[in-house]
Amino acid sequence: MMVRESNKGDLLMKICSIIVVAAVTSLLWVQAVPGAAPQERDPRVVVITVDGFRADVIHVADTPHMDELIENGAFTDQADILGERYQGNETVTIPGFSSLMTGVWADKHGLDDNDFEGHNFEQYPHFFARLKEQRPEAVTVSVLTHRRLSQHLVAGSADIDHIERTPAEPEEVLENRKVRDRNMAETSARFIREADPTALWVRPYLPDATGHRIGFSPEVPEYVEAIEEVDRFVGTIMEAIRSRPTYAQEDWLVIISADHGGRGRGHRGGHDHPEVRHVPLIVSGPSAKHGHRIEEGYIVDVAVTALVHLGVEIDEAWDLDGRAVGLEER
Ligand SMILES: [Zn+2]
Repeated sequence: MMVRESNKGDLLMKICSIIVVAAVTSLLWVQAVPGAAPQERDPRVVVITVDGFRADVIHVADTPHMDELIENGAFTDQADILGERYQGNETVTIPGFSSLMTGVWADKHGLDDNDFEGHNFEQYPHFFARLKEQRPEAVTVSVLTHRRLSQHLVAGSADIDHIERTPAEPEEVLENRKVRDRNMAETSARFIREADPTALWVRPYLPDATGHRIGFSPEVPEYVEAIEEVDRFVGTIMEAIRSRPTYAQEDWLVIISADHGGRGRGHRGGHDHPEVRHVPLIVSGPSAKHGHRIEEGYIVDVAVTALVHLGVEIDEAWDLDGRAVGLEER
């Protein structure tokens, strides 16, 4: 009897240890396998702010890469470039990019027109500076074409502050800008692969150049093609992100928006025109709400969404106007 009991006990022990070993093994396996919970991964951000991206054109243009991001994220085609509290600024580039990157409206960052005179970036800096304040180890990269934007707005907050040079060829302006945007996409992809960025900001320019010369409209084939070119730009960036050897341990958030839209051949004085005021806002990645429509999105939300994703605690004293949009609750 005793012997049989002891045999039974041994058998039970064996079964138990097999179960334990199996459980531990599967736990280790789960941890090593791609697709771990997003909150356990290393958060990263790419912000692509397109100059002159009118929102409604996205429904006409063939944009497979952006469509995929929208599917795997949150989206609105009615993000507003002006706030409710303050609309005293012109609907132009410098106030737009300043709001996108600082998370505050023009009465706070101080720029009502295409001029950096009188800016208040000491009090309301680029989100890179906020990120560095709390995470000094974070690597920040900006890829721009304008020295002025870099000098005043980035203002030393980027570890890599790249200015893409305008190529000598081709001579025709739009073809030239297309080549420059392609070079900028390749440069960004190289930084994503080699510089290990925590946050990267890049600004494609072709749609604005095309709009001013031919027209900002879904009915202008050249403008639609410029947005399709932006989509290839996005594709180059996504390929670089996915090719990182550490991709499975990282949680990349891609944010796409714009400084303004356009109508006719311009965008100045666009306060009463949705074609100028409405731009796309895409917030996409494993931590984004998938298939979610962003209600009441504003361009000041871009900087705040990036900061929250990167684990930065938003300080009330920063007095930001934007809020985090399109992210899953943590
Ligand atoms: Zn413009």
